[in-house]
Amino acid sequence: MDCIFCKIINNEIPCDKVLETENVIVFKDINPQAKVHLLVVSKMHIKNVNELNSDNSGIMADIFLAAKKAAEISNISESGYRTIINSGEDSGQEVDHIHLHILGGEKIGPLNYK
Ligand code: AMP
Repeated sequence: MDCIFCKIINNEIPCDKVLETENVIVFKDINPQAKVHLLVVSKMHIKNVNELNSDNSGIMADIFLAAKKAAEISNISESGYRTIINSGEDSGQEVDHIHLHILGGEKIGPLNYK
């Protein structure tokens, strides 16, 4: 499967890794939109939230627990951060492999997209 995040997980292309657990990997976004911009990526290939079901949804707990730990490692737990998951075309999802963005390290503004 030609998935860039699967290639990162399989060590076929490099990443700037922050942490790894049994089920997820956390690395720095290559095109950061804040001083700290991390991606928490499921090791299992799930396209997006639309593909979650009762069998695989436990991954969301793994993703958020890794996000909490990555925020601690990056020293943004106290200052705060935003978590975002894009799903599908209108969200602007570019990589069809479920991932949680962590944005922080500076004030990142309100959610006024329009
Ligand atoms: P999304 O638009 O939610 O699918 O986000 C995909 C994110 O992956 C974007 O913020 C990209 O900058 C990031 N990205 C794409 N390729 C890489 C890569 N090789 N290493 C790190 N981040 C990447």
